Amino acid sequence: MTSSVNESDTAGTDPMETLDRVAFLVRNCTDCPLASGRTHAVPGEGNPQADVMFIGEAPGFQEDRQGRPFVGPAGKLLDGLLASIGTNRDDVFIANMVKCRPPDNRDPDPGELAACTKFLDRQIELVNPKLIVTLGRFAFGRYFPGEGITKARGRLREKGGRKIFPVLHPAAVLRRDELRPTMIEDFKAISEILEGGIEDTDSEAGVNAPTASETAVPTAQLSFVDASGPAAVPTVQAETSTVNVEEASRPEQLTLF
Ligand code: URA
Repeated sequence: MTSSVNESDTAGTDPMETLDRVAFLVRNCTDCPLASGRTHAVPGEGNPQADVMFIGEAPGFQEDRQGRPFVGPAGKLLDGLLASIGTNRDDVFIANMVKCRPPDNRDPDPGELAACTKFLDRQIELVNPKLIVTLGRFAFGRYFPGEGITKARGRLREKGGRKIFPVLHPAAVLRRDELRPTMIEDFKAISEILEGGIEDTDSEAGVNAPTASETAVPTAQLSFVDASGPAAVPTVQAETSTVNVEEASRPEQLTLF
């Protein structure tokens, strides 16, 4: 297949000079078979000068319909988590490993991941965030292939000169409600990292020290609510109703993607 990047009309200049150019190329990309099944490609969006960049896996049903990242149930939870640390999606940049929806929300395959890497690489370069938060195992695997997200989540890492903070995928939290306190705690750690309260904890070799949410023990043992009280988590406005991140998007009420 031909590369839409090479086909761009900007001969002599960098075809991915700006985030808008990257988005244009993503929307016109035919570099992998996912292109033929998409309604909309989902380049990613947010503050071009964001301190934090979130990297998810791939668009789901709603994202494919709207051409925007994390606008389905997992996105509602992400919005609530952002609100819980006093920020919102206009402050951050949100992107995915793969920019087009895999059929039936199956896992992206290696060829699809490889075809999209150039776009994500450039988005990271252009935004140049202070912190990259990987959502789930695929984004984590971009930096630390072969490691398990369950063990790695909640620990600040460094790779290629970038600070990487792995957390669970919001969709996993929707599927397993007992993971919710862990996710809330990991988001608290994100704001601590940005405030400088959590230093780099590892080297390229992957030796990492614990952060505030170091543990990967069963989440039933974690006590975010006990420690901070439910009032610490603000109520946020979702598309259809006012929801609280601790209550939002209970799996039984929602169809994932
Ligand atoms: N899940 C993802 O990984 N990305 C999205 O944009 C939506 C759901």
